[in-house]
Amino acid sequence: MIRKDIIDLFRVPPGKKFRLKDHNPGWKQTDELEGLGKDAVKERAKETLERNLADLAEAQSLLYADDRYAVLVVLQAMDAAGKDGTIKHVMSGVNPQGCQVFSFKKPSAEELDHTFLWRYTRCLPERGRIGIFNRSYYEDVLVVKVHPGLVGRQLPREKEKPGKAFWEDRYEDINAFERHLVRNGTVILKFFLNVSEDEQKRRLLERLQRPEKNWKFSPADLAERGHWDDYMAAYEDAIGATSTGWAPWYVVPADHKWVTRAVVADVVTTAIRGLDLKYPDVTPDQRKLLDEARAKLAAE
Ligand code: AMP
Ligand code: MG
Repeated sequence: MIRKDIIDLFRVPPGKKFRLKDHNPGWKQTDELEGLGKDAVKERAKETLERNLADLAEAQSLLYADDRYAVLVVLQAMDAAGKDGTIKHVMSGVNPQGCQVFSFKKPSAEELDHTFLWRYTRCLPERGRIGIFNRSYYEDVLVVKVHPGLVGRQLPREKEKPGKAFWEDRYEDINAFERHLVRNGTVILKFFLNVSEDEQKRRLLERLQRPEKNWKFSPADLAERGHWDDYMAAYEDAIGATSTGWAPWYVVPADHKWVTRAVVADVVTTAIRGLDLKYPDVTPDQRKLLDEARAKLAAE
């Protein structure tokens, strides 16, 4: 599949009403793969993923050498949607020096004493790097919206409790924050890994049944699963309000892990390639120094 098609398929256009039900978690390139046997599909997926990683590695090395832009990858999803596996896959293709991952859990007391964006700003990627946020400031309009008690001391003094206006203010702040980053050289790519309720059940059961996966299970996952519809409503509102021209959302099918990984790697690679990156030029003076150094070393 051509990259541009993929990107158009999954990117959420700004300003339009966004509906999650228009996105199929089980999508898997059916046209191209139809008629192929299961092994052939697996083989094809492996090839796609390998090609993806090679392209990504090349793009990242140019990003690093060019040293003007940073890339921020935001991953959001329900539990067991494949965030960790996707990060592992994408990271396996890049130079670790040019990439950083930050995972965000429940905020600490110190973090709650600041504005909701504070803890994330401290982890933003520097120029030349790819920064991956495994959960992000979007949790502050997702889990916090599903459990409004979590707002705690972060409620503005003039507000009595988090209502519609409170969430709209947060979307607006997020959009402004992201625009600030983009204007200053950060490319922002936001992914919602869209897993179905059935597939999540299957994966959670697997975590319970297979001893080597037990550690991944947390009783909290079941509690949150109980709020599935509230989460979907919160995702729908948040994605609709914050998919902007400068920082678009991608809703990625997540019932097939290889699809998720291929799409994320594709979008990241294409975005980096779309920048006007170049290896730094060697000036005549630098060229002279290099020539002298080479002559000196060769003569040793
Ligand atoms: P996991 O990523 O599965 O290790 O879980 C991290 C947990 O931290 C999830 O249940 C998140 O919902 C929760 N979390 C992340 N960010 C926030 C936040 N800003 N406020 C409250 N809970 C959060
Ligand atoms: Mg978890």
